[in-house]
Amino acid sequence: MKYFVNENCIGCGLCTTTCPNVFTMTDENVARASDSDVSPEDEPAAEEALEGCPVDAIEHA
Ligand code: SF4
Repeated sequence: MKYFVNENCIGCGLCTTTCPNVFTMTDENVARASDSDVSPEDEPAAEEALEGCPVDAIEHA
C-alpha cells in the first residue's frame, strides 16, 4: 500500500504527527507521502492519517 498527498493539502501537519514514518512536510509546507510501500506496522497509523485529514488530501496511490 502506498499513499499520495493531493493538491488539497493545507499544510496543517496533522498527518505528519499521526504517522511520521510515512508523511513528512516539504519545504513548500505541504505534506508528502513516502514513495515506498508502507510497512504493515505503519498501515494503521497511515490509515488514521488518511481518515483524519481535514481536507481529504490523502489518497491511496
Ligand atoms: S493532514 Fe491533510 S492537510 Fe494536513 S498536512 Fe496532512 S495532507 Fe495536508
